[in-house]
Amino acid sequence: MSQPSHAHDENCIFCKIAAGKIPSRRVYEDDEIFVFDDINPWAPVHFLMIPKMHIPSMAQVGPEQAALLGRMMVLAPKLALEKGCRPYPEGGFRIVTNTGAEGGQEVHHLHIHVMGGPRPWLKG
Ligand code: AMP
Ligand code: ZN
Repeated sequence: MSQPSHAHDENCIFCKIAAGKIPSRRVYEDDEIFVFDDINPWAPVHFLMIPKMHIPSMAQVGPEQAALLGRMMVLAPKLALEKGCRPYPEGGFRIVTNTGAEGGQEVHHLHIHVMGGPRPWLKG
């Protein structure tokens, strides 16, 4: 089982995206957080929020990540509106974090999916 890591993983695609080594459509960036469009969107609006720090999944988070995760959650609704989601309650958005194989996680760098926009969606 992988241990929590505070470093960047050289083989991790999302570490490379956060470092600008792989191109992405950037939505937002600060010193701790990187946000970019999902390359294979399920909904008219679909972006991913990641910590720049390599944390494999939600299974590895601890109290030391509480502030960071809180900041990401507070940022999500703001960015959803900026990306074109209509306001609550008619509009809104969906937040998903797949964790582990049975949770459907494919990329093992913690990420929050934010999806929204007019239905029908491709999936979900
Ligand atoms: P998950 O199953 O939660 O691990 O989802 C991984 C997500 O990352 C999928 O929705 C992919 O479409 C997305 N993804 C994979 N590679 C890239 C990339 N290079 N740029 C943007 N999104 C990506
Ligand atoms: Zn990573």
